Amino acid sequence: MLAMPHRLVSPRTASPQELDALVHVLDGADIMVLKFEGTITHWSIGCENMYGWSYQEAVGRNVSDLLATRPLQQQDLIGDQIRSQGFWQGEVVHRHKNGHDIHVAARCVLVNLTDGEHSIIQTSSDISKLRRAEAALRSREAHLSSILETVPDAMIVIDHRGTVQSFSKAAEKLFGRTSDEVCGRNVNALMPNPDRQAHDHYIDHYLETGEKRIIGYGRVVTGMRADGTQFPMELHVGETTVNGERFFTGFVRDLTSRYKIEEDLRQAQKMEAVGQLTGGIAHDFNNLLTVISGNIEMVEDKLPPGPLRDILKEAQDAASDGAKLTGQLLAFGRRQPLNPQSADLGQLMSGFSNLLRRTLGEDIKLSTILSGSNFDVLVDSSQLQNAILNIAINARDAMPKGGKLTMELSRVELDSDYAKMYPDVRSGNFILIAITDTGIGMSEEVRKHAIEPFFTTKDTGSGTGLGLSMVYGFVKQSGGHLQIYSEIGRGTTIRIYLPARSERNLQQPDDAASHTVPPLPTGNETILVVEDDRRVRRVAVARLSGMGYSVLEAENGRNALDSLRSNADIALLFTDIVMPGGMTGDELAREARQIRPDLAVLFTSGYSEPALAAKNIIPGAQWLRKPYTARELAVTVRELLNA
Ligand code: ADP
Ligand code: MG
Repeated sequence: MLAMPHRLVSPRTASPQELDALVHVLDGADIMVLKFEGTITHWSIGCENMYGWSYQEAVGRNVSDLLATRPLQQQDLIGDQIRSQGFWQGEVVHRHKNGHDIHVAARCVLVNLTDGEHSIIQTSSDISKLRRAEAALRSREAHLSSILETVPDAMIVIDHRGTVQSFSKAAEKLFGRTSDEVCGRNVNALMPNPDRQAHDHYIDHYLETGEKRIIGYGRVVTGMRADGTQFPMELHVGETTVNGERFFTGFVRDLTSRYKIEEDLRQAQKMEAVGQLTGGIAHDFNNLLTVISGNIEMVEDKLPPGPLRDILKEAQDAASDGAKLTGQLLAFGRRQPLNPQSADLGQLMSGFSNLLRRTLGEDIKLSTILSGSNFDVLVDSSQLQNAILNIAINARDAMPKGGKLTMELSRVELDSDYAKMYPDVRSGNFILIAITDTGIGMSEEVRKHAIEPFFTTKDTGSGTGLGLSMVYGFVKQSGGHLQIYSEIGRGTTIRIYLPARSERNLQQPDDAASHTVPPLPTGNETILVVEDDRRVRRVAVARLSGMGYSVLEAENGRNALDSLRSNADIALLFTDIVMPGGMTGDELAREARQIRPDLAVLFTSGYSEPALAAKNIIPGAQWLRKPYTARELAVTVRELLNA
């Protein structure tokens, strides 16, 4: 039996009886015998099963007709080959009796019959399942490669030696290399050293020990682009075994932008913390300065002109320099008393440009551009001018050989997407003041630190490092934000975004009254001084007494209220805003007004309470910024009492 196939192929001669016997013996196989021109003479049970046609139906029919053999154009070639070589083997598509296609691997052998006729023995096997599986595989492959082309994450497949097998479109973009360049090379070309060297060891270690260091975990590593630049990336690695060979699939996500956002956030938090600290220190220091300069002032008044007075004058000057410094620090710490007023920035800037021109000198050309109209904001204009002046001075310093300074005003809307990109930015309508110079620019490092207090690249004496800190604090406190854009050698743009005034908050805070009352006015009314710091209180009491007033004092809100209840002739409440002990100055003032609706109120503070500044809770109240001079105190007190 086993010898039969050899006899079929090789000797090519058989008697009709042998042919009958063959088909009979191999009845279960798919075997048919045809006359050379195609007429079926033998049809096994295997064929009946495979094609659905019975022996009776098949025998005598032309095989190509019966089975709708395709591809038909090959039929001639097949015939030719069989004739010349006695043999053909290949794939055809046949049709089952019920109409469906059958993919068949066929094998035809020419047999010379002893009677001189030729026959073809054809054996077939149904490979439809195989073909279907292949088609499914192809479609899955197409599906997969369409995914590979579109997934935003880069995908890299390597074998156990680290050789890259596939490299997705996103990977090409991320690493700046084409798939052709990378495939077939070691994956460590995508890593900077020392990771590059460590990588082979990683794989070996894993293959030897099975200890999972990367597989299945996400970890952050450093990638390297074709141009050598490096970037943080998150790597997830999966593993598959194909035909006994291990492959690793790496999914890579670029972390650059996430890192950037996180870094911005850290920077914002740092500025917040430094601001709190600076503001706190400056606030306490202000109280000390108030004591120092207040005491000096009192001694000064009692001394006759002469050398001793000069010494005190010098101390007083130093104290006022100190006050200036704390003022700057308070500005950075967002605790500078602000006096926001409705202002049209367009007008403000034009009015301001003469001063700027003088500051910048002749070698710097100043131009102001207003894009559009309506630049209404609620802002402390003198502080804004101060900020712009600081920026202009920085620009001047950056353009020692002259250049151009452009100030541009426009209205912008920052949407929530934008706000998401910058952690400390709120969305909304803003007036943008962009101030651009053509100076030396800043390095990335300088730009990062420029707003930090005391950061300066200038020589001692020419820079304090507080300019941009003040600008930053002021802009933040005004509800806006600050951006610095700079390119080395090209110039710098400082952008100040101030919240545009919407129709809703149109009511203005009371205009600060002008201080035109005659010098050191006096009076004899009764004033209640509330201040928790004993020394500050003593100065205030001494000053007011010196001006002729009767002075009562209290160290906290509760004592102050008691005092108010028992002394009907108190005409003015002079209180610190921030006090320990559960009651702030403005709370005290509100309760005091319940007892005495006509009571005049004067606040003092090292920094403004935003609530007070913005809402003006106590009608007619005024406030003094610490440290204040005796003159400021006298003038303001008199003004309030006369009102
Ligand atoms: P200061 O001017 O006292 O140094 P600033 O806070 O105003 O302090 O500025 C901090 C630093 O930022 C400067 O020392 C300088 O290095 C850099 N800088 C600020 N503005 C510019 C600018 N327009 N061009 C180049 N560098 C600038
Ligand atoms: Mg400066």
